[in-house]
Amino acid sequence: MNITETNFNWSGTLTNRSKTNRIILHHAAASSATVEQIHQIHLQKGWSGIGYHFFIRKDGGVYRGRPLDKVGSHASNANNDSIGICFEGNFELEQITNAQLSSGRELIAYLFQTCGILVVLKHRDVGVTACPGKNFPDAEELLPLSSRGPSSWAKDAAEWAVEHGLFLGDANGDFRWTDTVTREELAAVCKRFAESPSTKTQTLTQPSESSDGFQRCICFGFKVKTQQVQRRSGEHSGFISKLRQIFGRCEKPTE
Ligand SMILES: [Zn+2]
Repeated sequence: MNITETNFNWSGTLTNRSKTNRIILHHAAASSATVEQIHQIHLQKGWSGIGYHFFIRKDGGVYRGRPLDKVGSHASNANNDSIGICFEGNFELEQITNAQLSSGRELIAYLFQTCGILVVLKHRDVGVTACPGKNFPDAEELLPLSSRGPSSWAKDAAEWAVEHGLFLGDANGDFRWTDTVTREELAAVCKRFAESPSTKTQTLTQPSESSDGFQRCICFGFKVKTQQVQRRSGEHSGFISKLRQIFGRCEKPTE
């Protein structure tokens, strides 16, 4: 992640932020602005200096504002647990540039990595304001691909897999629905399924034959908790033949 450092002089002492739960998105409400100008404007308001942690210019350049570990000054009542990102432009009147969108995604993905999974909100979600403007894209569009929900074609299968305890997500609770699965991961998943202890308890509901959600969920599975999956007694051969089908069919189903 390429962040241009700024080394601003701060007025007074900045406070450490003890928790980080969300990212709040803003616009500059000005068609053209530099990070230095915003620092000056915020100083003139009597603040410690620029209230945003990051500023993204129209050319996609990402500039550091307030240090990441300090409390910002960008959304009243929401500063204590949030990171503020501001985009150059007035999105009541203009559109975000592709360069800004792509830098915004990269920055947010980096913050997800650094700070754990965060909620991404627009300023107007937490306060009475038009910020970041009516033309600003949905916050979902700025989320890293891996953190987005499952695609519409896989939604039922994904819900089924979670409901049945097959998918637990990664260490951050991220299901990474759109990540791809390698053949070796798929083989490991299938082997664990096949080797799960046979019991008389029926806790895995086999989907109906008309639904291929079962195949889809294994094909695109990231982590599977096999301990919770107990094969139906007497269905072993059917199960293995299901796995054979899965090995042969792990391309994305066509709608
Ligand atoms: Zn704002």
